[in-house]
Amino acid sequence: MSETAIIYGDQRIPYVVNVDDKRTTRVAIHVEPDGKVIVDAPPGFAAEAIQAAVQKRARWVVSHVEDAKARFAHVRPREYVSGEQVIYLGRRYVLKVLPTLEKPRAVRLRGNRLEVETRSSTAEDVRSKVRAWYRVKARDYFAKRIAEASQSLPWIVEMPPFRLLEMNKQWGSCSADGQVILNPHLVKAPRECIEYVVMHELAHLKYHDHGPEFWQLLDVYSPQWRQSKGVLDAMVEVLAND
Ligand SMILES: [Zn+2]
Repeated sequence: MSETAIIYGDQRIPYVVNVDDKRTTRVAIHVEPDGKVIVDAPPGFAAEAIQAAVQKRARWVVSHVEDAKARFAHVRPREYVSGEQVIYLGRRYVLKVLPTLEKPRAVRLRGNRLEVETRSSTAEDVRSKVRAWYRVKARDYFAKRIAEASQSLPWIVEMPPFRLLEMNKQWGSCSADGQVILNPHLVKAPRECIEYVVMHELAHLKYHDHGPEFWQLLDVYSPQWRQSKGVLDAMVEVLAND
């Protein structure tokens, strides 16, 4: 990777070139959630050709960078104090930290509040309790969704094994031996987004790659998937923030 930049109006937009062995003809430009611009280029592509390609799409790049930065500005590091917002299945709740001298009760949702009893009241203690609560909820909810979907998908004979794994840039994956892996942060997303990720991974049990047949299958069994993916992409920084 090497950093370089284009000029658009009075702005300098830096970008990082990533040589991608799988590409053969054109470059692909994408803007990461924090506003970083990445250009995937085929091996041996001249720097001037890459720069020209980015310059040609400068207006698109600038508008995506601005969107990303505006969204990212709202994402502050969590403090795990009362009044902070927590998200679960696409709904917002208010964190309520309840100091206690007794043995703390389990974390629970009550009305619009997520109540966390703590003896130490430190951010670390509250954070670890909230994270543990999310994992339990994620395991239960995902297992239910996978079981349900498995029954209606003709290529699945029995419910595949699944596990939780925190991943940086992925909501889910499917291993070669048929294990479904889901990101516990996904349980914060709206139900239709979870549905999409589950369907996506279950479709990989039939087609392991992202070829045209894979997307056709998804279109049949999850016709709204594009919309759900869009919602999920727009929320990525909020959902992964902890
Ligand atoms: Zn996939």
